[in-house]
Amino acid sequence: MRGRLSLLLCGLLLLAGCHRSTRSDKATSDCRHSESICGSGTTCAANGQCLMDCRENLADACGPGLLCNQGTGACVAAQKLDCNEVPGLCWENQVCDAPTGYCREAAIDTALAYDVQLYDYTLHVDTAASTFSGQVSIFLVATRGGTATVTLDVGKTVEVPVEEGTAPYTPYTVTSVKSRSGAALAFTQDSTAGTLTVTLGTPLEANASEVLTVAYQGPLNPISDRKHDLYFTGLMRREGKLGHSLVQTFGWPHHTRRWLPSHDHPRDIARAIARVSIDNGLPVQANGVLVQESEGTPHRRTFLLRQPVPTYALNFIASDYTRVPIGTVDGVQVEAYMYPVATESAVPPLWWTGTLGAMKYLNEALGSFPFERYAMMQVPSALGGMEHATVVSIADTRTEGPDEEGHGNKLVIHEMLHHWWGDSAHQASWEEFWLNESLASFYTAEALGVLGGRSAFQAELDRMKAAIFKSPARYDDDALRWSRHPEEVPGETTRASFAAPYVKGPWIWQMIRLQLGESAFAAFMKRFYAATRFKPYSTTQLITLLNAESAVDFTPFFKEWVYGRGWPKLTSTWSYDSARRVIRLTVRQTQDVARYGSYTFNGPLALKYVFDDADAATASCTGEVTFTGGALESTVDIPCARAPTTMSQPFTRDLLVEIVP
Ligand SMILES: [Zn+2]
Repeated sequence: MRGRLSLLLCGLLLLAGCHRSTRSDKATSDCRHSESICGSGTTCAANGQCLMDCRENLADACGPGLLCNQGTGACVAAQKLDCNEVPGLCWENQVCDAPTGYCREAAIDTALAYDVQLYDYTLHVDTAASTFSGQVSIFLVATRGGTATVTLDVGKTVEVPVEEGTAPYTPYTVTSVKSRSGAALAFTQDSTAGTLTVTLGTPLEANASEVLTVAYQGPLNPISDRKHDLYFTGLMRREGKLGHSLVQTFGWPHHTRRWLPSHDHPRDIARAIARVSIDNGLPVQANGVLVQESEGTPHRRTFLLRQPVPTYALNFIASDYTRVPIGTVDGVQVEAYMYPVATESAVPPLWWTGTLGAMKYLNEALGSFPFERYAMMQVPSALGGMEHATVVSIADTRTEGPDEEGHGNKLVIHEMLHHWWGDSAHQASWEEFWLNESLASFYTAEALGVLGGRSAFQAELDRMKAAIFKSPARYDDDALRWSRHPEEVPGETTRASFAAPYVKGPWIWQMIRLQLGESAFAAFMKRFYAATRFKPYSTTQLITLLNAESAVDFTPFFKEWVYGRGWPKLTSTWSYDSARRVIRLTVRQTQDVARYGSYTFNGPLALKYVFDDADAATASCTGEVTFTGGALESTVDIPCARAPTTMSQPFTRDLLVEIVP
């Protein structure tokens, strides 16, 4: 660990002093004739000069209105956001769709009825009237032949509290739907079902694309009762803890449809172009990078997110923020947007710089950060934090509290982790939610271990374990990988379906590491991420990969720990037989087996016990207890020359087991 940490620090120090400039000394040579002229970190531009390669410094290499060409590393003008005119606009594994000028994935995901590639939305928010209006052009590809209708998700009507009783509130009304050619299309908005069914002019063949432009308008979310299910959802105006006004969206788990007509399924990832203006002039931040900014009123900003993400990770937000730059890691800018008071903007430089070291570590451990910037936005409330891609939400209360609580330092790393696990590799359905949260939480602990020593990793896992044992009812009423028909979202009918992935989940990865060994685990996780980057992932796929790439059959392990509820509880009793000079150790699994099942402990997961007699001159006695085949009790005789006085259970460091008297 020490070696890795010092490498990391060198990397960070280098970053501070590695500002590159154009290679003017080579300007007399034309690199178009000899690529080798350009040095490391530079690329040959169209004029034959070697220029800094913007791929190595994504966020700030290209000025306003310029984008980094992913093919060449040169900055290109991006006024039109048309891939026919802006070569290199498209990201990894994307190609330019010539008829639309939009990028599309080279390989379409055919699991659902259609695959959205892009939401190109233009919205104006009128805070004075508490309304918004605009349109979204949805670039989609049909996955089935004869696709004659497309059903989009829209917000349902709900009853909201008013002065006397309740009144129906519909998030927005669709006013028109047009095809790519501009033809008006027939549509039905069903605000009870929450669907917008569009009849296409001509049915689409499989793999054919269409652009549906949906115009809509509606009120901002008026729900002010914090206890209401839909309080912090859709498009809303809220006040932060210090009274600052914010205009923002919130979509998790399936509320993006409440501000954006969309294919609001976690599997269907898509890119976004956000063109947003607000009557009060608040500067907007949105997913991706700022590419255009209008003059005059209303002041409109355009952001381009070139990487596809789940709909719940789409977001825009506006407030009178102070921008706090934190640093740049491997070309990605890390920054925070805080309420404009010194007490808040002082927090990131003091407490959130762990994001730099964490990103550096994760770039090496998993693969390069898959987006173009990482901005942390202070917001009134967001389940603590929310992994809106490139513009994560951090609840404003997290900056408070005693120093021991870290002022949100772990949360900002956790939300960054979701850019690997959740926003790029993403759940194939809500039932795979545990992958997102267990991996984000496990690698947050890993990053803390790299930054603060192995004890920091162990302390984080022990904290999770203590939380589970303290409030078992919150974590034991469902499996990590649950299954529902019809589909549900996390936390809908059980508490553990939402809560357990954060604290039980990381222990699963720790126990997988124990079985694979440190280096094989590290190599496997790097491959697992490479295989799922911008692709859907699932538990069955994980098991298949684990079984294929290791000598272990992980199927029984997942059955007990991931598909089963709860965790094992162990009671150990022992006595010393002085005649035979053995310790007789009996271990029982005491969890309710009908509800939680029995657990296998053998191989690397065998339970190791240490007995000691408090005499430094004599060696301690060690023994191993195994459980297989559904056994609930196991007894072993451990040879020991003298009667011990103490028993310890070092396996509790690595296994999620509750020791009960
Ligand atoms: Zn999370």
